[in-house]
Amino acid sequence: MAVAGRAGRTPLIAGNWKLNLDHLQAIAFVQKLAWSLKDARHDFDTVEVAVFPPFTDLRSVQTLVSADKLPIKYGAQDVSEHESGAYTGEVSAQFLAALNCSYVIIGHSERRALHGETDELIARKAKAAIKAGLVPVICVGETAEDLEQHGPSAIPVAQLGTIAEALKAGDDIVVAYEPVWAIGSGQAATAEQAQTVAAQLRTVLEEKLDADTAAATRILYGGSVKAANIAGFMRQKDIDGALVGGASLDVAEFSSIAQFPKHVGV
Ligand code: PEP
Repeated sequence: MAVAGRAGRTPLIAGNWKLNLDHLQAIAFVQKLAWSLKDARHDFDTVEVAVFPPFTDLRSVQTLVSADKLPIKYGAQDVSEHESGAYTGEVSAQFLAALNCSYVIIGHSERRALHGETDELIARKAKAAIKAGLVPVICVGETAEDLEQHGPSAIPVAQLGTIAEALKAGDDIVVAYEPVWAIGSGQAATAEQAQTVAAQLRTVLEEKLDADTAAATRILYGGSVKAANIAGFMRQKDIDGALVGGASLDVAEFSSIAQFPKHVGV
């Protein structure tokens, strides 16, 4: 049963591990997460759960998920725009698909800030992911300076507008609205601000793609999400889940975030 009020969009709780947990730690973590959710009788058809480990963990996570038939999904934190060739250090979407990844995070603010990723590159990566059968989790969001100068919506709306130019109606994507100032700061956006921006991002998808694609696309909020504040976000009609950083490294906390319907009655 889909959680009510979301036009059939199944909520997604996604854990971005960043540069944490090696492949052995990843196996232990995913096992514990699966046990915790099983104990809680989590219904994965109602709320999807996905983890995003470092590249070097993916084969181990795949082996565990497949051997134990775990209902947990997984993906990578980045992908190359290229399929193959002389691109030292890069990993293609085809390679990720071969490891049964469902998703890939694209354009995280840390990649934008530390690796100079532009909306144009992010768009090419999103296309490469879609071509390989992966669902890109496309991140957009404003810095503290952007917020001061332009308010919360202008920058994420412009970012998604540029990226969506390269996509087509019917493409299966997830959008993550992540205010940069909220990431890792302990200071989340208010649920109302997140809803306002999410609604505008949905309008961008409607204008650049079409109404059906906009209605079907899941929009996540990310930035200092915890078990204590997930309820407020999930009560918003345009927010379909969360991209969780720090709190995704704590099994009990992440499991509790995934079980948000028990707390919010949505
Ligand atoms: C993130 O890095 O995507 C993120 C949302 O981090 P945190 O939850 O730690 O703010």
